[in-house]
Amino acid sequence: MLNKNDIVEILKDNTQNHNLFNLADDTRKKYVGNTVHLRGLIEFSNICSKTCKYCGLRYENKNIDRYRMTQEEIVECAQNAVELGYKTIVLQSGEDNFFTRDTLCKIIKEIKRLDVAITLSIGERSDDDYKAFKEAGADRYLLRIETTDENLYKTMHPHMDFKNRLKCLENLKKIGYETGTGCLVGLPNQSLESLANDIMFFKELNADMIGIGPFLPHPDTPLSDAPHGDFNLALKVMAITRIVLKDINIPATTAMETLNKNGRIIALKSGANVIMPNVTNTKFQEKYEIYPNKTKSGNDFAEYKETLEIKLKSIGRTIAQNKGFRNPTK
Ligand code: SAH
Ligand code: SF4
Repeated sequence: MLNKNDIVEILKDNTQNHNLFNLADDTRKKYVGNTVHLRGLIEFSNICSKTCKYCGLRYENKNIDRYRMTQEEIVECAQNAVELGYKTIVLQSGEDNFFTRDTLCKIIKEIKRLDVAITLSIGERSDDDYKAFKEAGADRYLLRIETTDENLYKTMHPHMDFKNRLKCLENLKKIGYETGTGCLVGLPNQSLESLANDIMFFKELNADMIGIGPFLPHPDTPLSDAPHGDFNLALKVMAITRIVLKDINIPATTAMETLNKNGRIIALKSGANVIMPNVTNTKFQEKYEIYPNKTKSGNDFAEYKETLEIKLKSIGRTIAQNKGFRNPTK
């Protein structure tokens, strides 16, 4: 098992990257096989009460056209995705208090009738909310810790509390969600040591899913002039995470594709086994700008999926036909 110092050394040394990516690819193949899980992503509201310094949806950004999908629109999007063969629906949004516990439970129950797994990615909520969502049918929850460096966390997240984020992750695990977390790579003043700590934290939490993406500056945020995160470094953090956590689900993130035209395929060959195509109605997709130049999935989701399938085939991978839990007995 790699320790923190080993990880820092690997992150520093760029002469062995090729071997690292190959080892991560072998580990992926051995533990989770050659299938790729597709998760249909619905970005149902870009309204957010938080002010994360890197994010275009932050409350203080007034230069954004805000939207909130109706319950009917959300369920319709899910239905369309299920008809295309998606086995998981991911519901993501800003921290939008309009969506109360009851409203969300109704939406979850309706989508659950379609016989799909449901992942939530809606930020920090109370323990009782998390329990209610689980009872309504949610299976998984994504909440990135973003960084385990508490000082950096504080500067990046005004009015937010690192300890509460940790508590949320512990609660999610305890309630029985497949729990996903992850980090941003390339935040201003982020050290390699802190990235190594992030990976150690993923292991300690025994996270079921890890999403890792490079930081991408958004023009309407306080970090507009900061340089973007390094693609290779993000890929390395992801590859090491695969080697350390072995059988978990790891998405090839959209942020990787934004930095490198072939980013997601490269990620799939370096440890990733999940893709999250956007299945949100296009008119909303354009407005969900956490960072600029986010990869869009076009108007024709069926065609998008077919193209993806061909690309996957070319690297010896196929689309999984099951719901893709970490624990296959679920
Ligand atoms: N509001 C929810 C979910 C939406 S944001 C939450 O914060 O958990 C989803 C993820 O987008 C965040 O976890 C963050 O890691 C990522 N993100 C936000 N702004 C970004 C940026 N400028 N560059 C790269 N990733 C970003
Ligand atoms: Fe809101 Fe999430 Fe963006 Fe933070 S990262 S501002 S919580 S949408």
